[in-house]
Amino acid sequence: MQDRIGEIRDQLLLAAKEMYERGLVASVWGNLSARVPDTGLIVVTPSGMDYRTLRAEDLVVVDLETGQVTEGKRKPTSELHMHLAILRARADVNGVMHTHSVYASACSAAHREIPPIVEDLAQVVGGSVSVARYALPGTPELGAAAVKALNKKGAVLLANHGVVGVGHDIMEALRVCTIVEKGAQIYVIAKMIGTPVLLSHEDVEYLRSTYKDHYGQNK
Ligand SMILES: [Zn+2]
Repeated sequence: MQDRIGEIRDQLLLAAKEMYERGLVASVWGNLSARVPDTGLIVVTPSGMDYRTLRAEDLVVVDLETGQVTEGKRKPTSELHMHLAILRARADVNGVMHTHSVYASACSAAHREIPPIVEDLAQVVGGSVSVARYALPGTPELGAAAVKALNKKGAVLLANHGVVGVGHDIMEALRVCTIVEKGAQIYVIAKMIGTPVLLSHEDVEYLRSTYKDHYGQNK
């Protein structure tokens, strides 16, 4: 079991540093979690630590059912409730990333969902990135609101706050958060120069299912 936890720790650390490098978070904000398959455990980032100097041993192992820390000296992320709620609700999700990227956060501040206007966004999200009902950060209410608005999709906006992206693993969650931020930028710019034209529901369904099949073959 320690090997499996170690592998997930390494992946999570890599994704956390990449999230910071890509400018999806500022300073110590944002947080990540990943399921350790078949163990009932998850690995989460610690609260308020600098991503540039973060080490594998700073990550915290938490029991998914009880929410209790089982390994690690650090305090887990303040958004632990939300990570637990999403990983409990979505058996198909093994990685959850929460960022405060600028354009997606702007949409969240305007309570404007990001519609499927470009293909890569439709592929990774499977529809609009909906806005969850506002709740204070760190509360179980935020977790419940995020689960509800996320539904079966790949990403959700937290009202007046930021983004959550989910995936088969934490690297896919990173990809989702990156594509959502790019989609938000395109949406805002498209609104400045005209009226964004949405992809049809049928096309979104097709794009989503072919993306999932393709991903499955790469496993
Ligand atoms: Zn946040």
